[in-house]
Amino acid sequence: MDLAQVRQLFESLKGKIQTPRDLEKLRQTFLGKKGYVTQLFKELRNATPEKRRELGKLINALREEIDEFIKLKGEELKRKELEEKLKAERLDITLPGDTVLPIGSKHPLSAVIEEITEIFKQMGFSVETGPEVEKEEYNFDMLNIPKYHPARDMQDTFYVNEKGYLLRTHTSPVQVRTLLKREPPVQIIAPGRVYRRDDDPTHSPMFFQVEGLVVNESVSFANMVFVLKVFLRKFFEKDVSVRFRPSYFPFTEPSAEVDIGCVICSGKGCRVCKGTGWLEVLGAGMVHPNVLSACGIDAEKFRGFAFGLGVDRFAMLKYRIDNIKLFYENDIRFLKQFVSL
Ligand SMILES: [Zn+2]
Repeated sequence: MDLAQVRQLFESLKGKIQTPRDLEKLRQTFLGKKGYVTQLFKELRNATPEKRRELGKLINALREEIDEFIKLKGEELKRKELEEKLKAERLDITLPGDTVLPIGSKHPLSAVIEEITEIFKQMGFSVETGPEVEKEEYNFDMLNIPKYHPARDMQDTFYVNEKGYLLRTHTSPVQVRTLLKREPPVQIIAPGRVYRRDDDPTHSPMFFQVEGLVVNESVSFANMVFVLKVFLRKFFEKDVSVRFRPSYFPFTEPSAEVDIGCVICSGKGCRVCKGTGWLEVLGAGMVHPNVLSACGIDAEKFRGFAFGLGVDRFAMLKYRIDNIKLFYENDIRFLKQFVSL
């Protein structure tokens, strides 16, 4: 191809450039190693000196022209590309916002505490609370657990200081606080956190209890059995069998441990009930006269029953969870399973 043909070809191609790739192809076609312009320069060798100079100028002018075109077109394409990108990514700040906030869920322990509270409220109980940092006197002494009593060792205690304050080891001091400020009849439950130096798959150093206390002139062990049976059947939503085993607690006499027929295997025996078919779920008993007297209640005139249950254990049984730690790790993947609560 001679110079005129190369120029003609360039003129016909330059209007068709759409992309940086087209542009690169154009550069190769004319200015590359085997490009037409490069070829024209090579052919100059065969021309006469006068012609060479004249032709050389013209070829050079064409090369510069193509060079300039590539530079300008390259910039134009880049600008176009940026504009399109900005257009695509533009935010329309006039669009309405997302008005529906994602709905969270109740923590399974909160849900269980609420459920337990609701059942007892329906039976006429009111809710009392007390501090988690408690007087040693209320946590032990007034509950018939004097100093050096072996029961103090049963509950590995976190002491706050040496002035008689500790992290309550059970919700029972709320019994004392209630009886100190209120005349019987009393019919309360007290849900709350308690602390013990205990740490394994079924024990956490901080856990939840619900305490119950009924004091009046005529209350009996039979009343207690009835109340607890009604509660357990309502909570587990089935006609669970309930049994009372004699036990010992310093603050009740007589005392009982309460078992239900295993809700996992329906009494056939499984890993959770250790093959016995029974699950221990509650401690209960008639309030010891010493506790009533310590709180200034006439133990000749009034009687009472009390019970305590571990919320974590109830939640573990209800939702079939075998590690108490799951309640306190607050792993969102675990908690999301309770969205319907
Ligand atoms: Zn079982």
